[in-house]
Amino acid sequence: MDKLEKIVSHSRDGVGPMRAERHQLICSLFEEYIEMYASRDDRLTSRFSDNFSGYAGSSDVLITDKAEWIRITRQDFTQIPERIDIEMLDLSLQDLADDVVAVTAFFHIHLPPPEGILSNETARLVLVFRQESTAWKIVHSGISIPYGLAHDDEIYPMSRLEKRNLELEQIINVRTNELAEANKILQIQCNTDGLTNISNRRHFDYLLNQEWNRGQRSGTPLAVIMLDIDYFKSFNDHYGHLAGDICLKKLAQRLAQSSRRVGELVARYGGEEFVILLPNTVKQAAFEVAKHIQKMVLSLEIPHVTSSHGIVTVSLGVASLQPSSQQLPVELVRLADAALYRAKLAGRNCVQLEDGGSG
Ligand code: GH3
Ligand code: MG
Ligand code: MG
Repeated sequence: MDKLEKIVSHSRDGVGPMRAERHQLICSLFEEYIEMYASRDDRLTSRFSDNFSGYAGSSDVLITDKAEWIRITRQDFTQIPERIDIEMLDLSLQDLADDVVAVTAFFHIHLPPPEGILSNETARLVLVFRQESTAWKIVHSGISIPYGLAHDDEIYPMSRLEKRNLELEQIINVRTNELAEANKILQIQCNTDGLTNISNRRHFDYLLNQEWNRGQRSGTPLAVIMLDIDYFKSFNDHYGHLAGDICLKKLAQRLAQSSRRVGELVARYGGEEFVILLPNTVKQAAFEVAKHIQKMVLSLEIPHVTSSHGIVTVSLGVASLQPSSQQLPVELVRLADAALYRAKLAGRNCVQLEDGGSG
């Protein structure tokens, strides 16, 4: 209330300065009112005159029933039970008669967050006090924040605010879902090989690490099969690069179809090399899977006239390790790759085990 010095005062007859004690009286009546209003103090309701009339929160409906005014005041207090902050902008005191004084105040109402609508609006309050017996009572109160901001019997435009918040929440929800969907697509794209549509090396590396850690925890072995198409360069040279692509796609598709176990992964490791990750698989079982793949490729009977077999064949290297913290998962790939190299040396179209075994 430090703005009180800026008061524009009017004496009863409109001339001369207001007497100091009247000034003091009007100030204290108003201060008392505004403090009870700000602190949501129900004692405010005892200050209304039986002959009360007033305009409720921004509305243009005149209330002439004191009980109704008390109901509206309490509704106001219930809507916002916490203390509110009144930022006083200007004040005008009027000494209208011995028993009638008036105050016109301009202020901002700062409601507790998140409300932000009223803070920027200037409220105008006209209060008329009348002395009844010994007590000063409020005979008129008219607040406008400004007109049109509140609706129906609302003191503050809370339902409008809540509706807007709901709309915003819905917008955010839709956006969040769209983002999650886009992220999912991006994630899939990141992990997928563009040509064959199966997992790429990046995804394999990620799952290899995951399964290596899982294998350490569960004490179960992890196997890897490296597969390389035989004489693929000459396939390309003879049939063309496009035919080579079709061959790669067909092979990838059939490899992916043949992996069925949970955690199993078929990925394009690069070029015409594929890799199969087999959790909880010992060497011999992985070897059997590799043999099965070798036969599956033969059964495709993709013509390859520049190969001694006349059809597309593959070489496979198999490795299986018990994951441990003493080794890195890349060691498993290195072993499978070395076995693959031996399969090539052994004449291709065959399977080699990491420890030298073959089939
Ligand atoms: P080896 O039996 O020793 O594996 O002989 P290779 O000819 O298959 O091996 P090399 O590494 O010499 O050649 C691999 C070929 O794979 C060379 C390259 O043109 C072909 N290649 C790699 N990626 C693609 C691809 O995306 N599409 C096609 N069409 N060919 C590819
Ligand atoms: Mg190769
Ligand atoms: Mg090759």
